[in-house]
Amino acid sequence: MITWDNSLNSLFINGKWQGSISGRSESVINPATHEKLTEVAWAGRTEAESAIQSASSAFPSWSKMTARERSKILYRTHELLLERVDRLSTILTMEQGKPLAEARGEIRSAANFFLWYAEEANRLYGEWIPSSIPGKRLLVKPEPIGVIAAITPWNFPSSMIARKLAPALASGCTVILKPAPETPLSAIELVSILAEAGVPDGVVNLVTGDALEIGSALMESRDVRLITFTGSTEVGKLLMKGSADTLKKLSLELGGHAPILVFEDANLERAANQTLASKFRNSGQTCICANRVYVHENVKERFIDLLQNKIRHLKAGNGLEKGVDLGPLINRQSLDKVQSHVEDAIQKGANVLNGGAPLQVDLSGHFYSPTLLTKVTNDMKVMQEETFGPLLPLQTFIEESDVIHRANNTDYGLAAYLFTENLSRATRVSEALEYGIVGVNDVFPAVPEAPFGGIKQSGIGKEGGAQGIHEYVNIKYISTIIDE
Ligand code: ADP
Repeated sequence: MITWDNSLNSLFINGKWQGSISGRSESVINPATHEKLTEVAWAGRTEAESAIQSASSAFPSWSKMTARERSKILYRTHELLLERVDRLSTILTMEQGKPLAEARGEIRSAANFFLWYAEEANRLYGEWIPSSIPGKRLLVKPEPIGVIAAITPWNFPSSMIARKLAPALASGCTVILKPAPETPLSAIELVSILAEAGVPDGVVNLVTGDALEIGSALMESRDVRLITFTGSTEVGKLLMKGSADTLKKLSLELGGHAPILVFEDANLERAANQTLASKFRNSGQTCICANRVYVHENVKERFIDLLQNKIRHLKAGNGLEKGVDLGPLINRQSLDKVQSHVEDAIQKGANVLNGGAPLQVDLSGHFYSPTLLTKVTNDMKVMQEETFGPLLPLQTFIEESDVIHRANNTDYGLAAYLFTENLSRATRVSEALEYGIVGVNDVFPAVPEAPFGGIKQSGIGKEGGAQGIHEYVNIKYISTIIDE
């Protein structure tokens, strides 16, 4: 049984849990049942400014601590997350809707980000450059960028925070976290674990509340040196514009429109399994999930059969129940978007092979049936916009060069996938795809040890890998003339 002792005190500023100044709070709703879980404080500009002040005051001592000391706190966070996986994953499913097995996977992934950056904290090396001028010593030294703000989405309410906070803390930065209003409880749990693991007062501050007020306080502040954001391309652009006056650094993980290319030499069984896993995980509410499939004309019938046989067995329901594969969509707006993509496609001539309508489940949440469309044309919304739902449009192709062109013909550039058993083709096509991440026979590329991030309008910067910590670092160059 999960209880929230005092979720109204959900703001964590300078090491103290507190409520909003206005006393305002907002409900947290279970998207599967529409039951109210609890309420959390709704902060505005003033609380955001206090959080910035607190993070600024904490920066000098946190950044001077040895990397080894910071690393120990991150190791402890990793351990605590794993010890509490049952509680954390249950809360995650209750506020977000995804099946419990997926929520457990997400908590483990969050824990692994802390483990990876506990290790990387100790490897933030500088350089000594041989000088062309006698008597000079040229040093290059990485330094933490300062106070950073993390703005996170609801689709991965734990791991998106971990990907940002673990490298920021490892490098010596202090943090203001603004989680999505739909999923504040996972953020509250994670921040209390960080405090328990030994993060000093003021180093991590949490403000749940009004996106516009908190966002503008963060953007306008001269003390906040970087905003790291995961969410829509639209809001990413707003943050970039709003940060121009203070010339902040931005790290942006934005929308995607991932293509899956299934060649005639692919292992079709594997391609079908992975396509479904990519599309229907988190009910399609994932920025790297397949948004369109291109299958070679010669294997389309077998591939479609495999997909259809598997889609029929997907079970929708409350993610806390055993055997559920598909949870609800996060809200009514999401359901309307999926439905509008389906209606637009039908009106322009698409054929619905599976699904095509909201799903009647004995719950009040917004469920949508897993949907497969053929006879899809490029002018359909589903081929242009990110759907963020369980809708899979399928087109066929014959020529490799043509499918590469179609895959690249988008403003997005986050992830793309291809299925082939031919090594030369795998290499050639993955090099030709204009994406930050390419999965070859693999739709689960996101791991802590590798750099995740998009190009074009899918974002700027990397999360994960050795590169991920460099987002949070300034490179200082020290040139010294010495007496020899
Ligand atoms: P989604 O549409 O998936 O909710 P958003 O990009 O709107 O994605 O939201 C992602 C995160 O950005 C959330 O924490 C949200 O509250 C926050 N957000 C939304 N609009 C703004 C804004 N104008 N300024 C700052 N943060 C924002």
